[in-house]
Amino acid sequence: MPDILPTQTAVWQRIEREVGALLHAHAYREIRLPLLEPTELFCRSIGEVTDIVEKEMYTFADRNGDSLTLRPEGTAGCVRAVLQNGLLQSLPLRLWYAGPMFRHERPQMGRQRQFHQIGVEAFGVAGPDIEAEHLLLLARLWRRLGVAPLVRLEINSLGSAAARAAYREALVAYLGAHLDALDEDSRRRLGTNPLRILDSKDPGTREVLAGAPSLDTWLDEESRAHMDGLRALLDAAGVVYRVNPALVRGLDYYGKTVYEWVTDSLGAQGTVCAGGRYDALVTQLGGPPTTGAGFAMGVERLVLLLGAAGVGADDAAEPHVFWVVGDAAAQRFAFVVAEALRDRLPWLRMQMHCGEGSMRSQMKKADRSGATLALIVGADELAADEISVRGLRAGGLPQSRVPSAGLADVLARQLGTPASDAAD
Ligand code: ATP
Ligand code: MG
Repeated sequence: MPDILPTQTAVWQRIEREVGALLHAHAYREIRLPLLEPTELFCRSIGEVTDIVEKEMYTFADRNGDSLTLRPEGTAGCVRAVLQNGLLQSLPLRLWYAGPMFRHERPQMGRQRQFHQIGVEAFGVAGPDIEAEHLLLLARLWRRLGVAPLVRLEINSLGSAAARAAYREALVAYLGAHLDALDEDSRRRLGTNPLRILDSKDPGTREVLAGAPSLDTWLDEESRAHMDGLRALLDAAGVVYRVNPALVRGLDYYGKTVYEWVTDSLGAQGTVCAGGRYDALVTQLGGPPTTGAGFAMGVERLVLLLGAAGVGADDAAEPHVFWVVGDAAAQRFAFVVAEALRDRLPWLRMQMHCGEGSMRSQMKKADRSGATLALIVGADELAADEISVRGLRAGGLPQSRVPSAGLADVLARQLGTPASDAAD
């Protein structure tokens, strides 16, 4: 469960800002959900025979003896909250959330035990237009974040529950005839969750899978039409994708559409964002029949991807100006002038001198801070109601004295106002 350090948070904030603005522009509303839920909720929604529920959940008994679980994902809690708070009154309902998730996995690059997801859920749209909305939104997000060249989209249809059941039988019959060639995990899954075997990375199992029946041939008419509708919308909008018949996802609640945005830039942890349709989930959790579709992206993997793309934070952390003061009286004067500057120039990043230190040592700190300008108040400046302004960077301003009343104008001229957001 890693700490996210001050040197890293600027990139996180950039991602959060871009996602928040984009979702706002698509009429999604944020919902904030608890980190703990009754264990039952996840067993019923994610499925008993999944990696998450079988071996990844942090589950414990609280003081009353109730079994609680740190949320491993957001969809189940979101559906619970939607039902408990009667939010299905006016559909469609478009929601998003962000925050930490917990899974007891082997930590490695792009895989932590506490990680962060930004998730989107939309309820009450039965057609593929909502999946198209999500995928267009995501394609735009990748462009805004500068990672579009590094990700590609894979989609598939899992069909109806009946189609999956029929396919499951055919798959089990086929794989059962090749039992010796399967890896141990897959052999175990054959009796519990055979569709997950399609996801296996084991070379021997992959060879067997090459000859396996394809889910595609078992698809029901409705699911096929749904997929065709989604593809037509994506084609018209110019979103490039690959149909991957082996894409299944690790959660039981998906049906019809599933998709993943994947990258080759992050080694084995290549899935940056995953989602699909879960029309049965709301009824499964005790609600009225309500369709649903959504996705979740892994923020850590996105941060790594921005790194791979050479994209940094979009705003600098260094102060614009650093105050250097001679004595207590000079410091009082500096605080008064600084407050007036904060009124006039709210964008100005200004670091005060607090604590002990000679003017000489303060100048060293000003240099190390990365500030563009030092604002210096010694006895002379104080007596004259002026501030000395000195450029700290190579080729910067030579030192000059400015009346305190004119300082804001000088700084606005020297430092400029922040650039306005560019279009993507
Ligand atoms: P994976 O196959 O990589 O284990 P998953 O199918 O378990 O992923 P989901 O449950 O669909 O993943 O979660 C959506 C996204 O959340 C993933 O695509 C990934 O970006 C991110 N994610 C999932 N588990 C972790 C983790 N342990 N650490 C970091 N990110 C994760
Ligand atoms: Mg996983």
